[in-house]
Amino acid sequence: MAEGLVDLRSDTVTRPTEGMRRAMAEAEVGDDVYAEDPAVRALEERVAAMFGHEAALFVPSGTMGNQIGMRLVCEPGQEILCDADAHVVTYEMGAAAAIFGISTRTVVSDRGRLDADALVAQVRPRDDWHLTATAAIAVENTHNRGFGRVQPLGELEKLWDWSRGAGVAVHLDGARIWNASAASGVDLATYGRLADTASVCFSKGLGTPVGSVLVASAERIAQARLWRKRLGGGMRQVGVLAAACLYALDHHLPRLGEDHEHAQLLAKLLGVDPAAVETNMVVVDDVPAPLIAEAAKAQGVLVGQVSPRRIRLVTHLDVDRAGIERAAEVLNGLLDR
Ligand SMILES: *Cc1c(COP(=O)(O)O)cnc(C)c1O
Repeated sequence: MAEGLVDLRSDTVTRPTEGMRRAMAEAEVGDDVYAEDPAVRALEERVAAMFGHEAALFVPSGTMGNQIGMRLVCEPGQEILCDADAHVVTYEMGAAAAIFGISTRTVVSDRGRLDADALVAQVRPRDDWHLTATAAIAVENTHNRGFGRVQPLGELEKLWDWSRGAGVAVHLDGARIWNASAASGVDLATYGRLADTASVCFSKGLGTPVGSVLVASAERIAQARLWRKRLGGGMRQVGVLAAACLYALDHHLPRLGEDHEHAQLLAKLLGVDPAAVETNMVVVDDVPAPLIAEAAKAQGVLVGQVSPRRIRLVTHLDVDRAGIERAAEVLNGLLDR
């Protein structure tokens, strides 16, 4: 973060720390297209084990992880069901349709909250000559447009149990699954076992410059490796990036709770209901977002504009308690509270 600036637009804005840069510089590397990069292999094995899956694949972005993950469980001409605000249908540039010929159908949710019954009610069978077959359901945890909402474990379990009997796959967009686990106390392996394919990100709260990992069965990951190469995601001595991810698991994952405490503090200082803040995102509604954003920026505080009347503040590694207090002071001055 530039000196003196408090950047709360997103947790993607973090810069690699000194320790992370050292780990990157010292990484042992090889050619990962030959599957010979030791740091990448170590990361893939470690993440697969954390989520209780057989195998994993390092990919450049969460979007690629999600799209390959969905392609593994859905054929062209079939559909994936998800909620209407899901990242996979909102922020991935129509990739499922544009690249894979996958149809998506959405169900409106209560601020991203997973409602297993509502999704299941929309599922269409595979063996009907008239209907587009539902091959999979995509779930997002935490939910980005749901203000960092943590999905209820009971709903995840209900969907999973139903899906086994129905032959419908479950894909988890776990870009911020780390935050979900830190907030709920549910371990990563439990979340992992409730999905056929899962994509997890290192460039959000974990603070690396790049990187996501897709986990699934060994057979599916072998397929995923082909898709990654086809999409231009085959990378060479990329252990320098995997080393950053390994460093983040050791040093940044254990401190995620701090971001959640900072979000609670920020909510309190801004008079936002703390119960609406489940992880690292604070949303302020009914405000002139462009005006607030511009005026805050002039005072060194950057905020996200989600809509013309809504601003979003995301806590992360590069904002400490003093930064939170300063942001609150600036925003309270502007919000007229
Ligand atoms: C950030 C994010 C992704 C991945 O985005 P990339 O920019 O492609 O890394 C996926 N899902 C959610 C919910 C996200 O917030």
